[in-house]
Amino acid sequence: MEYRSTGMIRPIDKMGRVVIPKEMREYLGLTEDGDKFEIYLEGKTILLRKFQPKCIFCGEFADSIELNDIVVCKNCVDKLREIKEQSPEG
Ligand SMILES: [Zn+2]
Repeated sequence: MEYRSTGMIRPIDKMGRVVIPKEMREYLGLTEDGDKFEIYLEGKTILLRKFQPKCIFCGEFADSIELNDIVVCKNCVDKLREIKEQSPEG
């Protein structure tokens, strides 16, 4: 992976908080209050990535549905539906 400098330098406060520039938040799609990012560490480099919950069955990010803090993708929802339709008790 090659890192590209954004040229943005931001101070860190006593609580360890850093303000992520608005344009970066918008670029990552982090625009709602409470949106989360996941923190990765590579050597001494911190990487921030928009947090996307994974499907508990297949690990995919795409088109997921969240229900009671459990994330299931639409493919797995369809599979579950098929299993339910095939079961004798319906
Ligand atoms: Zn899935």
